[in-house]
Order: sequence, then structure tokens, then C-alpha cells
Amino acid sequence: MNETLAKWIGESERIVFFGGAGVSTESGIPDFRSVDGLYNQQYDYPPETILSHTFFMRRPEEFFRFYRNKMLFPNAQPNAAHKKLAQWEAEGRLSAVVTQNIDGLHQKAGSKTVYELHGSVLRNHCMRCGRPYSMEDVMNSTGVPRCACGGIIKPDVVLYEESLDDETVTRACMAIEQADMLIIGGTSLSVYPAAGFIDLYRGHRLVLVNMSATPRDARADLIVRDPIGKAFSELP
Ligand code: NAD
Repeated sequence: MNETLAKWIGESERIVFFGGAGVSTESGIPDFRSVDGLYNQQYDYPPETILSHTFFMRRPEEFFRFYRNKMLFPNAQPNAAHKKLAQWEAEGRLSAVVTQNIDGLHQKAGSKTVYELHGSVLRNHCMRCGRPYSMEDVMNSTGVPRCACGGIIKPDVVLYEESLDDETVTRACMAIEQADMLIIGGTSLSVYPAAGFIDLYRGHRLVLVNMSATPRDARADLIVRDPIGKAFSELP
């Protein structure tokens, strides 16, 4: 167990956790940039292209083929990291989870205050009439999923070229500004604007839990290089 990390958590009352794809790799969901991540597999187009708004509008069949195969993990379960964060919130130590993930696993683990910067695969809506649809509706459809009204059903996931939801960003920023400890985990800190959130924290308990180095390692007060599920499972 990392004694410094355990001590700081015990002394904090407004922890904010800011996480990315690495939080869910131990739940069996690949991240983007690790060696076996999505960006190192071969497709006709790079994932950044397929997951862009332009591609979605121009080639929706291709988009949904990739999306159903690579973005939906209906059987994934929360791991020890998701569960520990939910426990700290219930104990009154943690005020918010800010996540770049779209898998809904924090809520599945019991977390209540979760700011999903990039949306969620669990929510989908008709682009024409706004009617909501579930992940199963999209998963069980073929080709381009269509609403009863004929409109395309779009996942509520922020694609490249799309902007983040203003209210979610504002709330996430406020939580980080007011945090007495910021734990950043499982993110390469390479996707902006989300990666810039680290600068909003002004305290001296900034912890980075990431298996590889990030461009912001120099800013951290403590760095943990273990897999996050393993590291968190050892904490009180
Ligand atoms: P990323 O793929 O760029 O980086 C993941 C980082 O996590 C890497 O630095 C890697 O070393 C580290 N990592 C992997 N497994 C880890 C573990 N078990 N413990 C600790 N560290 C671990 O991911 P990102 O920074 O989140 O940015 C990519 C984008 O990918 C985000 O916008 C997100 O929306 C999207 N994404 C989400 C999911 C998901 O919802 N689960 C999955 C893949 C990608």
C-alpha cells in the first residue's frame, strides 16, 4: 500500500477524482493509447477519424459498425478502482468523479456525483425528435439505428469536433477548484480541453496514478505507477 496516498485520503474531505480510459482497463475495456489499445489496432481509418462528427454524418454505417464492435461493453463490471471511489463518496471524503470515460461504470459501482465530460454510451437519442433510446436498442439494431420517426439515433457521446456540454464542464471545474485533494488516474492527459483541468487545482495533494508517464508528471506531488484497481484495492 502507498502510505502517503493512504494518509492524504484519510485527511481529506473534498477529494476529486479525475480519470480516463485506464480506470476501466481492469474491467476489460481497452484504452486508446496503450500498446494493445484501440489506436494500435488496424482499421481502414484511424479511430480519431471514425469517431469524428464529420465521419458520423458522412458514413454512419461505417461509424456504427466500429461503434458496436469497439465501444460497447455491455458485460463490463466495475473494478476495485470504481468501487473504492464510490466508497469514499459514501464516507463523505470525495465530492466528485470527473471522467472522460463513456462506459457508465462509476455509476454502476454506486458513485452519485459523476461528471461525464465525454458523455455516455448508455444514453442515445433521435436526432430528429429527441426520443431517448437505450444502449441495448443501439446494440440490437443493424446498420444505422433509426427512430420510429425515421431519424438517426445518435449516441450521447462527444465525438471529435464536437464541444463538451457547458453545464457538465462548469460543474466539473468548480469541483476541482474546491478540491482539497485531486487524484488523476488512468489518463494519458493528452485529450484537450479535459487535460487542462489539472491546472484548476491549486492545492498540494495532486496524485497521478498512471501506468505510463504523462506530459504533466512534473506537476504531481505524488506519482503511483501501479495498475489503478490494484493500487486502490489496497487503500482503506
Ligand atoms: P488514453 O487511452 O489516452 O490513456 C490511458 C492511460 O491510462 C495511459 O496513459 C495508460 O498508461 C494508462 N492505463 C491503462 N491502464 C491502466 C491501469 N489499469 N491503471 C493505471 N493506468 C492505466 O485514455 P484517456 O486519457 O482517457 O483519453 C482517451 C479518450 O478515450 C477519452 O476521451 C475517453 O472518452 C475515451 N475512451 C473511453 C473509454 C471508456 O469509456 N472506458 C475507453 C477507451 C477510450
